[in-house]
Amino acid sequence: MQLSQIVCQETLSANQTDIYLRLNKGTPFLIEAERMSAKMPYLGTESIDYSFEAGHGWVKTGSGEITDDQTIFESNTTSTQSIKLTPVTGTAVNAQKTSLSLDYSDQRHIRLWAYADPANINNLSKFEVMYCTGAATYSYDFLPTLKLKNPCIITIAKPDFFKYLEPNWANIDRIIIKVTANAEVTGSVWVDNLGWQKPKPTKGKIIIRFDDGLKSVFSTAAASMMNWGVTGCCVVTPARVGINENYMTLDDLSTLKTRGWDISSHSFDHANNATFGDKAFSYCYNDSKATQNWLLEKGFTNGARFHAFPGNAHNSNTLLATSQIFTLINSGVIGHETLPWADGILLKRLSGDLKTAAELNAYADVCAANKTLAIIYFHNIVLGGASYTTDPAEFVSFISTLGARNDVDVITYSDLLDTTYIATR
Ligand SMILES: [Zn+2]
Repeated sequence: MQLSQIVCQETLSANQTDIYLRLNKGTPFLIEAERMSAKMPYLGTESIDYSFEAGHGWVKTGSGEITDDQTIFESNTTSTQSIKLTPVTGTAVNAQKTSLSLDYSDQRHIRLWAYADPANINNLSKFEVMYCTGAATYSYDFLPTLKLKNPCIITIAKPDFFKYLEPNWANIDRIIIKVTANAEVTGSVWVDNLGWQKPKPTKGKIIIRFDDGLKSVFSTAAASMMNWGVTGCCVVTPARVGINENYMTLDDLSTLKTRGWDISSHSFDHANNATFGDKAFSYCYNDSKATQNWLLEKGFTNGARFHAFPGNAHNSNTLLATSQIFTLINSGVIGHETLPWADGILLKRLSGDLKTAAELNAYADVCAANKTLAIIYFHNIVLGGASYTTDPAEFVSFISTLGARNDVDVITYSDLLDTTYIATR
């Protein structure tokens, strides 16, 4: 679907979870379906180790029940059932698989589908998945993520697991799914399709992002990047485009787009410096829609698919609103991050503010060594050493090094979505 085909939206209520777009001469189109189709090349490479079909062999320990459930499971897969875990009040129930001999050293991100009964999700205190080597464990509590989005396909990179003693990903002998209830109450969690996602790509990938649409990006950064054929992504606020000499004009942005850059959303006006951490669904939905409409009207069709929150501030409502409008939201929320968590040394979104060329080159070194994705974000490329600035000489030096190396690709969000299988969760 071309976003430019969108002509209007259906009426919306705050608790509506499926939002349709009416296409020109077309049938209503579910946005979530577009997000899923965008994810399919990546998701198609997932390995599902446990789909919990009949005869799955997971056994119960602890107090409570684990049952096969054929009414609630992950749809759009070959799955026909899930396992449902219901602890006795105030206790924990485990589903476990023992006597394993598994080597996960080449895998990157665990994935699983989960659902909790909304009526009693707050009765639960933990929903953990544990990978064990003897008594040593890697564990992670997925309950906070599930409270943000339910049901949810959850992905976590290995370095984000909590480590107890010295487990070894190359020698996993037991896996435990554990649900714990608060005192005198209980609830249920359904789990389906536990597995892993695609291993590392053949090269590191770097996205260079500029926030806020500042003039120095065009006047200073872009020139050096064009010399090396390196493209970037600008997340802009329409209300500030060309507003004074500190901001890029529409012509500037159009020139960058022609050069292969993405021009994307950073909210309509930076929310007047208030945060999306305390905004309502409807405010964020309308703000995001207006921003996307502006991007489409100005011809930034590819970039209109992407959004970054100002200050990375968000809550479950604003996250839901943006996820229904944009295809990728680089939100930085575990389990909702639409880009993969890089690993190695927990290389994730990286600030380029106040960094030297040597520090920026070191980011690229790690990205190349681990063959992972890094997003380096900048603001103002000016002298002076103030917050949110990067010294132009340091930036240009970094670009000249980056442009000459062949062990990392510099890509845009569009490249990521349209031409790589690296990830689009
Ligand atoms: Zn910003």
